[in-house]
Amino acid sequence: MGKFEGKPYVQDNYPTRRKAAQPQECEKKKKRDSLRKVSKILQKCETLRTAEETRLLESCTEAVKEISQRREKVQLYKERIQEKEDPPDVIETKAKKLAEAITRARHLICYTGAGISTSARIPDYRGSNGIWTLLAQGKDIGKHDLSLAEPTFTHMALYELHRRKMLRFVVSQNCDGLHLRSGLPRNSLSEVHGNMYIEACKNCKPNVEYWRLFDTTELTARYNHKTMRRCHICGKPLVDTIVHFGERGCLRWPLNWAGACAQSEKADVILCLGSSLKVLKKYSWLWAMDRPAKKRPKLYIVNLQWTPKDSVAALKINGKCDQVMMLVMKQLNIVVPDYKRLKDPIFAHASLLSSLELHTVSQPMLKSQNELECSETTLEDEKKPFEEPFEDSQEALDLSSERPVVEVEVKVEPSDVKVEVKGEINAESVDVKDELKAEESPGVKEEPKTENSGAKDEPAEVKLEGEVKNKEIK
Ligand SMILES: [Zn+2]
Repeated sequence: MGKFEGKPYVQDNYPTRRKAAQPQECEKKKKRDSLRKVSKILQKCETLRTAEETRLLESCTEAVKEISQRREKVQLYKERIQEKEDPPDVIETKAKKLAEAITRARHLICYTGAGISTSARIPDYRGSNGIWTLLAQGKDIGKHDLSLAEPTFTHMALYELHRRKMLRFVVSQNCDGLHLRSGLPRNSLSEVHGNMYIEACKNCKPNVEYWRLFDTTELTARYNHKTMRRCHICGKPLVDTIVHFGERGCLRWPLNWAGACAQSEKADVILCLGSSLKVLKKYSWLWAMDRPAKKRPKLYIVNLQWTPKDSVAALKINGKCDQVMMLVMKQLNIVVPDYKRLKDPIFAHASLLSSLELHTVSQPMLKSQNELECSETTLEDEKKPFEEPFEDSQEALDLSSERPVVEVEVKVEPSDVKVEVKGEINAESVDVKDELKAEESPGVKEEPKTENSGAKDEPAEVKLEGEVKNKEIK
């Protein structure tokens, strides 16, 4: 205090500033009180209001307006999150229309969300009741035995439509890996939020994938993606492939943004199944927002809740995915094969754990190690990183042309690598930037940029990825 005694301007200014703040505070408090009073009166039935109260309402038109607007918003929100189902006859009529649209489509693609997996009793990874949200709120997520979950009728219907070349591509928000397990080839799939059965080595270029028979996210979290296992090739830590809220994944696989972008450009019909579309809506290039409304793909939506795309959809079906798809497939006269564990590619591609790694998993596996060791899976498979034979050889060529990125690694100076970006990788801000970019030039075929993993403890990798990305774009 003694320090300031010789500086009178501090003494003079201090009280003046405090005084100036007070009337503002008063104003706010007055407004709050008035809103509260008006709100109370508005809750009463009109006939029960006293003359004084009616007069007060007449004099506070602004407050009355504000409160009514707030109430409308709350009402709207409540309506939108409600699950509503169309009556059976309406669903049947709509399913016929959807079947016709699928038959007519020249390039049909499909966007899927948690709603197609609910019948497999897979917990939602995101959303208000998602695992991450509940855990963040300190709530119990209950026991979920993912090893029992299998592809649903809808997964198998999409697999069959794809096999018949009636469906070209699937973009899924689900991390449950059920599309891959249905047999849908991975070059026809983009798992934009990752796949919980796949972990990857980001040190190896191109990134090496390891398919596992268990949920690889057991020990991981947002911004902390290390799974406690190491790459069989380079020995560096493996990371899960999940993209959490506020993160943007940049792994080539299983996210496959390049595939999603290319396919959405060609699409003339988009079928959205079991997604609220609140997240997918933000990726404007998925919706051809750069074109005039009339030239965009026709949208067919199957979801129990409201979606932000309902108003522009050619058809909205408020129904359960399996139920609607059964009617659609019947209408199309297509028999949907049952899911068969024997044909599930995860069992052929999965890498087994070594005895030193066994302690990193505590949950039940899809199949026991013994069972697998006895089956056809050879030791060779175990050592070999996952490489799926591509159906389309052109695609394989395209991918291999992207691969010579190793030189970039060499060029990076140690001084560059040490860039202090740790805490600064603010996914939110990158989000906005990316979205702005997408709005400016929605055709840009760029993979989302933020690291989906290790952003906090591996700045070197963050920098590297950035360099690699730039090279790829050029
Ligand atoms: Zn590696």
